[in-house]
Amino acid sequence: MKLSRLRFNFGFLLEADYGTSRLIELNYPSVQLSDDVTLAPLQGSITATRTTEGIYLQGKLESSMSMECVRCLDEAIVPVDISIDELYYYPPQDAPEGEARVGEDGIIDLAPLVRELSLLSVPIKVLCRPDCQGLCQECGANLNYGDCGCAEDDVDPRLSVLQSLLNIDRNGE
Ligand SMILES: [Zn+2]
Ligand SMILES: [Zn+2]
Repeated sequence: MKLSRLRFNFGFLLEADYGTSRLIELNYPSVQLSDDVTLAPLQGSITATRTTEGIYLQGKLESSMSMECVRCLDEAIVPVDISIDELYYYPPQDAPEGEARVGEDGIIDLAPLVRELSLLSVPIKVLCRPDCQGLCQECGANLNYGDCGCAEDDVDPRLSVLQSLLNIDRNGE
């Protein structure tokens, strides 16, 4: 797991005067944020500013995430556009309950925030493409790769069975 790529040491900024800021450019071919979320590629920039309360991060990130199509279960590449707007308190013990904080060592790990924002940014129903045909309910074949043949094989015999049952009913009356 490459969780270290979104860990930044802000020791230098914590030593600096209030109002000092630093631009951080991100450009990674791929970043794994957790077992379930990998962003590839990840690009953007974040401005880190030393404030009286800690370090304020503001920026925009663009990426895309590999997910599972809800219809066919194939891979779906979903664009991810997130805005970061977060104050990390320092010293950490001054952070109100539930607020983000800089580590004692001056390190901020952005992975949890970026993961959360990425998951919030994607649609609830992820599709590999708008007209995904899904899976055949009979044989499970992915219908995006072509017709599995179930429709022709099944519908006609069933209809003819129904037809003969109807005929038996009528004859029985
Ligand atoms: Zn699909
Ligand atoms: Zn089928």
